[in-house]
Amino acid sequence: MSGDLGLIGLAVMGQNLIMNMADHGFEVVAYNRTTSKVDEFLANGAKGKSIVGAHSLEDLVSKLKRPRKVMLLVKAGNPVDYIINDLVPLLEEGDIIIDGGNSHFPDSNRRYEELKKKGILFVGSGVSGGEEGARYGPSLMPGGDERAWPFIKDIFQSVSAKSDGEPCCDWVGPAGAGHYVKMVHNGIEYGDMQLICEAYDIMKRIGGFTDKEIGDVFTTWNKGVLDSFLIEITRDILKFDDVDGKPLVEKIMDTAGQKGTGKWTAMNALDLGMPVTLIGEAVFGRCLSAIKSERVRASETLVGPEIPKDAVKNRQEFIDELEQALYASKIISYAQGFMLIREAAKTYGWKLNNPAIALMWRGGCIIRSVFLGEITKAYRTNPDLENLLLDKFFTDAVTKAQLGWRKTVALATTYGVPTPTFSTALAFYDGYRSARLPANLLQAQRDYFGAHTFRVLPEFASENLPEGKDIHINWTGHG
Ligand code: NAP
Repeated sequence: MSGDLGLIGLAVMGQNLIMNMADHGFEVVAYNRTTSKVDEFLANGAKGKSIVGAHSLEDLVSKLKRPRKVMLLVKAGNPVDYIINDLVPLLEEGDIIIDGGNSHFPDSNRRYEELKKKGILFVGSGVSGGEEGARYGPSLMPGGDERAWPFIKDIFQSVSAKSDGEPCCDWVGPAGAGHYVKMVHNGIEYGDMQLICEAYDIMKRIGGFTDKEIGDVFTTWNKGVLDSFLIEITRDILKFDDVDGKPLVEKIMDTAGQKGTGKWTAMNALDLGMPVTLIGEAVFGRCLSAIKSERVRASETLVGPEIPKDAVKNRQEFIDELEQALYASKIISYAQGFMLIREAAKTYGWKLNNPAIALMWRGGCIIRSVFLGEITKAYRTNPDLENLLLDKFFTDAVTKAQLGWRKTVALATTYGVPTPTFSTALAFYDGYRSARLPANLLQAQRDYFGAHTFRVLPEFASENLPEGKDIHINWTGHG
């Protein structure tokens, strides 16, 4: 009974996280449904480390210190429930079950409630950074039963990535909050990737840049405000040649896959009534890419503007403006992501730790960037910040980037290069900064055809248009 933590699931994530934990001095008991994988792991990666094997759940539980901590890194969905069902009779009150897979947060809410009734402390933890992160320092986003935190904090913060010496792991909030924050992280990842792809497309189609030249632009951008893991890997991809010396990226079929976490984020934004438009467009961008054969047929019929060879007169100016467009759009995406998190906290009654969320994303995960350091600062200065755009640093940043952003979107529109995320970011910005939107007309239309009523602006209140009342007008009569 000396195991610090039991880990179920010896696929790539599980094996790597176990080795990471062992490197940090923890004794881990490893188990997998297909038990031959336990033996293989013990004979290979785990050899010489403080890793013990188990060939049944009973065996696993019997080797753990109390309160027992059991972490699952298995396929999300039913497998998590099957394992929990088999595990619970073997545990006792106060023991801890941690689900580190990509579970959908409503499932984690349910598991938290069900296990609470049985006295088991449930933790749903986002784990980001892929296999490399799991091995050498992931971003960890744990939430659930806070009574579990003191027992797992040391392990989690030891193995997580560090940013300026601080662990990219802290307690997120109750119930499914950890998996919720991981879901929004993945949605933001969809947005960041789509934004980068649009910048590449603009450079290629309007600027006529080669892949190597675009790679050079990303190299430069990675030394400035856009410094991030995704810009870095994009630079490397653009400079990677196939055996024939031609860029490999150009040979890849332009149909994007998706596993669903971006869609979950967009659907949740619709459920909560939050205008998270950039992630939505990023998901739809992948959907549009996926109907390749239809697009190929449409391209033979539907016309757009010709792009002249000299569309870009000043290359440096074009690149600088594009960088501004990318930076400003990225700010909008993170502002929208935090709007969603804020609304979720209100709707689900969660107290969430915003500065800690930004710090958790600062290192170890796919969206890690220098930029997240500024978001951490903004939320540390004011944890209840109404909107990231209202923090002075970000207000100044979008103000400065605005001209280049507008010129880039205008250029892309003029020459018919699709920029769904750049464009929606700008439309959101202009909507968010508008004290008055044309929803007055919309309300009139709704009242006209459906008697849905409207409210009057206080300054125009009168006897026939009383303030604070739902008003219906007979629009086909005379008032
Ligand atoms: P995976 O391919 O998602 O899952 C394989 C593991 O699940 C195996 O250990 C498998 O056991 C087990 N499993 C499947 N069905 C089971 C069942 N009915 N009962 C018991 N065990 C079952 O593995 P992964 O890629 O390492 O990911 C693990 C989790 O982390 C997933 O939720 C994934 O979404 C999440 N995640 C993955 C990444 C990544 O980069 N891969 C990044 C972040 C998060 P057998 O060997 O017996 O089949």
